[in-house]
Amino acid sequence: MDFSLTDEQKAIRDTTRAFIDKEVRPLEQEVLLRERQHRVGLEPSELRELQLKAKKFGFWGIASPEEYGGMNLPAVTQSLIWTEIGKTFIPFRFGGDADILLRHTNEEQAKEYLFPSIEGERISCFAITEPGAGSDAANIRTSASKVDDHWVINGEKTFITNGNEADFAIVIAVTDREKGARHGSTAFLVDRDMGWKSEFIATMGEGGPASLIFDNVRVPHRNVLGEVGQGFDLAMEWIGRGRYTIPSQAVGSAERALQMAIDHANTRETFGRKIGTNQAIQWMIADSEVELEAARLLVLRAAWIIDQQRNPRHASSIAKLYGAGMVNRVIDRVLQIHGGMGYTRELPLERWYRSVRVFRILEGSDEIQRLIISRDLLRGYTKLGAELS
Ligand SMILES: Cc1cc2nc3c(=O)[nH]c(=O)nc-3n(C[C@H](O)[C@H](O)[C@H](O)COP(=O)(O)OP(=O)(O)OC[C@H]3O[C@@H](n4cnc5c(N)ncnc54)[C@H](O)[C@@H]3O)c2cc1C
Repeated sequence: MDFSLTDEQKAIRDTTRAFIDKEVRPLEQEVLLRERQHRVGLEPSELRELQLKAKKFGFWGIASPEEYGGMNLPAVTQSLIWTEIGKTFIPFRFGGDADILLRHTNEEQAKEYLFPSIEGERISCFAITEPGAGSDAANIRTSASKVDDHWVINGEKTFITNGNEADFAIVIAVTDREKGARHGSTAFLVDRDMGWKSEFIATMGEGGPASLIFDNVRVPHRNVLGEVGQGFDLAMEWIGRGRYTIPSQAVGSAERALQMAIDHANTRETFGRKIGTNQAIQWMIADSEVELEAARLLVLRAAWIIDQQRNPRHASSIAKLYGAGMVNRVIDRVLQIHGGMGYTRELPLERWYRSVRVFRILEGSDEIQRLIISRDLLRGYTKLGAELS
C-alpha cells in the first residue's frame, strides 16, 4: 500500500497552498477588522479579483470539463485543493467551477448556462430543499405543469446557497404526481428574470442562503435539464459531490486550527509554565490530531474510490459523517485551549466554530449519513472492509 502523493498531486497542492498563503490569507486580518467595524467582510468584486489572480496561477474550473477550459481534476487532487481552501476562512473558491449538473446541458443550453458559468459571468444555485422537505427530499411539493411548450412552476424552495445572488437556478420540481418525486421529478434551468423571487435567510454562519418563491413562473420546455423525470437522480448526483468536498475542507480548517493550538500551548504561560506542559492540554491536542488524521485518510479514500469509477456512496458517507463531526470537535478544543482570546473576534476561531456547524447538517445530515451507512450494511449492499478489496 502506497500512501504517497504523485509528483503532480504534490505540485498542485503546493501551488494551491502558495496561492492561498500569498493572496488569500493576508486578507483575513482586514476582514476581521472590517467586520468589527460592522462593514462587509469582502465585496463580491474583491473575491472575483482573487479568482482572476488564481486564473493567472493556472487555476480555473478545477471540476469543469477540459474541453470547456476547465481542469477536470481527479477527485483526490480536488480533495487536496479543498483542504488547502479550508485553511482560510475567506470564502474563496477557484473561479470557473460551473455547477456539476451543468454537464448535463445540451449544446444550446451550454451556450446560455454552462459556458458563462465557467467564465464566471453567471452565478447559479441549486434548489431541491423545501420548507416541508429537507432530509426527506422525495417529499418535495414544488410542481411544474406542462402548458403548451412551457412549464409553469409553483412552490417554495428554502436554504438555497447563493439563492440571493444567483441569476439562474437549477430547480427540481415534481412533473408527474402519480410517479412521485423520486421518479417523477425534473430539473429546470430557471432564469431569475423568468419571475422567481428570493429572500435572504440570516444564519449563524457568514453570508446566508435564501428562500426562492415560484408563483406561476413560466419556463420554456427547452430549459429542461437532462430528461423529463430524471430530476431526482440529478439531485442525488449534486448532493453526492458535497460528501467529499465538505470533509476535505473540514480537514484543512482543523489542521490550521490545531497548529494554532500547538503554537499557543507552546507560548502561553499560566502558573509559571507553558500551558502545553499540562496533560489536560496535551490530551486535547492528541485527540484532535488522531481525529484529524483519521478524517484525512477517510476523505482521501472516498475520493480515490471516485477516481476508480467505483460507487463512492458508502465511503463518502463515512468521510462526510466523520469529517463534519471531527472539525466541530477540533475547533471546540482549540477554542478552549485559547481561553478568552479564542472567544473573541480577534482570532478566526469563534467564526470557524459557528461556520463549521453547518457541515453536520447540509448535503445529508449526520443522521442521514448514519442511515445510509447502516442501511448499506443491514441490506448487504456492502460488506465490512469491502472497500479495501
Ligand atoms: C447554510 C445552508 C445551505 C444549504 N444549501 C442548500 C442548497 O444550496 N440547496 C438545497 O437544495 N438545500 C440546501 N440546504 C438544505 C439542507 O440540505 C437541509 O437543511 C438538510 O438536508 C436538512 O433538511 P432540513 O433542514 O429540512 O431538516 P429535516 O429534514 O427536517 O431534519 C431535522 C432533523 O431530523 C433529522 N432526521 C431527519 N430524518 C431523519 C431520520 N429518518 N432519522 C433520523 N434523523 C432524521 C435530521 O438529521 C435533522 O437533525 C442548505 C442548508 C443550510 C443550513
